[in-house]
Amino acid sequence: AKNRGKNTFQFYTADMNASAMARLKLEYGLHRALTRDEFQVWYQPKVDLASGRLEGMEALVRWQHPEMGLVSPVDFIPVAEECALIVPLGAWVLSEACRFTRQLQADYDFSGRVAVNLSGRQLKFGNIVDTVQQILQDSGLPASCLELEITESTAMDSDQEVGRALEGLRSMGVTLAIDDFGTGYSSLAYLKSLPVQVLKIDRSFIADLHQDKDDAAIASAVISMGRSLGLSIVAEGVELPAHRDFLRAQGCHMAQGYLYGKPMPAEAFRRYVQTFEAQ
Ligand code: C2E
Ligand code: CA
Ligand code: CA
Ligand code: CA
Repeated sequence: AKNRGKNTFQFYTADMNASAMARLKLEYGLHRALTRDEFQVWYQPKVDLASGRLEGMEALVRWQHPEMGLVSPVDFIPVAEECALIVPLGAWVLSEACRFTRQLQADYDFSGRVAVNLSGRQLKFGNIVDTVQQILQDSGLPASCLELEITESTAMDSDQEVGRALEGLRSMGVTLAIDDFGTGYSSLAYLKSLPVQVLKIDRSFIADLHQDKDDAAIASAVISMGRSLGLSIVAEGVELPAHRDFLRAQGCHMAQGYLYGKPMPAEAFRRYVQTFEAQ
């Protein structure tokens, strides 16, 4: 028994070493990726539910790893956040997204907003107000065409720096959105105290709302309370016509999801805008 105990312990440490190594490799690869130009920004359309018009898009980062292929942000964003790489990476995504959107405005009659995700770390340590100001200036994109998505848990952070950053961004004319709403513990009453204009309902409440009474009740409560606070409501993860019909009937303003389009590389999104234009 003693022996087995020892072996178990050895396996355990061997496992830990393997995962620590994998983690270290990922971290190293991430740092290299920024200088090697391995990141890409993809875009997913956001559509106005009442008119069907293209209202804008969300910028979503992708990592094209030389051996691993396309790596999901779900796998590398948390690591980038822990090792602070999210600050330069986030700034790079912002500047790519603003440049691309300015180009769409120049080439087509595009007036939509681009939404970019911000991590808590960028709001706390990234000197974010100056960074955004500089990027808008360099790209020539008006502040009114930029939206920044902050998760509910980041917005809940009582850190003074976060609050100041949000106020600073808002006074520049940037739109602020609460992402993944419903997954944290914030109340809509609390949101009222933040300089936020958009509420994105997390896709976990959307997926089953056509067959789950509780999810449908939550979604419609968020929509009606959000509307009464003067917020613009976006549903994410809209995959089915049944989702769209329900959300539209409830007065949800916008939708984003596979029903309208998956995230796509910049060139594909450019063609998507072109076809919308032609309609
Ligand atoms: P998110 O901000 O909630 O982004 C929406 C995610 O839902 C995206 O996953 C998108 O591809 C996915 N999605 C959109 N429509 C549907 C649908 O109809 N069905 C389903 N099943 N999924 C849908 P993605 O691109 O893998 O990004 C995952 C997360 O990674 C994002 O979640 C965001 O939290 C983070 N992320 C992505 N890009 C960035 C970035 O540039 N900066 C930061 N800080 N985080 C990012
Ligand atoms: Ca988002
Ligand atoms: Ca989201
Ligand atoms: Ca989500």
